[in-house]
Amino acid sequence: MRFWVVLLFVIYTSFSFAGDKTTLYDFRYWSAPDHTRIVIDKEEDTLFNIKSFDDYVVISFDDAEVLSETFSNIFFKDSRIEKVRIKRDKETIKLIVHIKNKFKTNHFTLKPNAKYKFHRLVVDIVDSGLKSTKIITKPEAAKPNKNQKIILVDAGHGGEDSGAIGKNRSKEKDVNLAIAKKLVSIINKNKDLKAVLTRSGDYYVPLTKRITIAQKEKATMFISIHADAVESPVAKGASVYTLSEKGNNSKLAKQLELSQNVVDQFGGVESVIDNDQFLKNILTDFSRKDRDMQSFKLANEIINQLEKIGPIHKKVPQKANFVVLKSPSIPSVLVETAFISNPTQEKRLTNRKQQAKIAQSIYQGILKYYSNL
Ligand SMILES: [Zn+2]
Repeated sequence: MRFWVVLLFVIYTSFSFAGDKTTLYDFRYWSAPDHTRIVIDKEEDTLFNIKSFDDYVVISFDDAEVLSETFSNIFFKDSRIEKVRIKRDKETIKLIVHIKNKFKTNHFTLKPNAKYKFHRLVVDIVDSGLKSTKIITKPEAAKPNKNQKIILVDAGHGGEDSGAIGKNRSKEKDVNLAIAKKLVSIINKNKDLKAVLTRSGDYYVPLTKRITIAQKEKATMFISIHADAVESPVAKGASVYTLSEKGNNSKLAKQLELSQNVVDQFGGVESVIDNDQFLKNILTDFSRKDRDMQSFKLANEIINQLEKIGPIHKKVPQKANFVVLKSPSIPSVLVETAFISNPTQEKRLTNRKQQAKIAQSIYQGILKYYSNL
């Protein structure tokens, strides 16, 4: 009798151990100019361990299994990563990531949210060499023009943060980047202006870092490119937002503020403390008033131009409390180019010619703003 009890117990526990394996659902990576971000979709209680060596990192998971359909996603093709090897034994899965340059790692975990149903482990492999991580834009002009005005062009979202997703599955982050890049190349044809992107590829840049880039580059204007989304598939047209620290009471703006400002659930390590210190340093009353007035003028000019090429959602500049607009003393606007949630507008947003038209209109608005200064 005792024998059977023990045997049953052994069978039961070995079964339950097999069933206890947690699942690794997916692997993704995003290549930024100064780091590569590896994201692993896992279960909440998946045990992991990260160890760095000279030229490789070992990410190991205890009692975990990889879904067979996502297995090939483990092997990344990234300029920083030489190869990824996988080692498995009964208890652990080890991901051994060989890295070409000097590096350090950061990691954090993220909880599920509206866009991601799994818990995530994020491992950043950050360049630690002396190489400069300057944002790449265009080759320096032969003779830099001292009076050149520098315009920061910000493509909203990126990497893990896809932004809104259209009915035909196009992603806002891709549309934003396409329009932003076109705007930059149009601006850079003008010798008096120079445009710089906050991101040049599909990776996430924290919101306050976007402002820091503007400061580093000594930008005199900040333009953030986005596309709107709402439940209703018929809402259409462009809107342009300026900052209001008080926020906005309209339902759409409230919803937008939420989706814009909490996107840092995608970036992870942007702490609130940093944010506060940052704002304390930059906001004097004087620069704020001046900035708000200039931002309003710029927004108006851009709306006037966008009106010539398509529908407008709001004919006057809207106010909202967007973190990304909190640059000190430079006009800052956020352009919602169209509604990606409207299939007709989504088509327009993904069409290259239409993207160029939108970029051209924003550029004309910038020129009009400068000519009235
Ligand atoms: Zn957006």
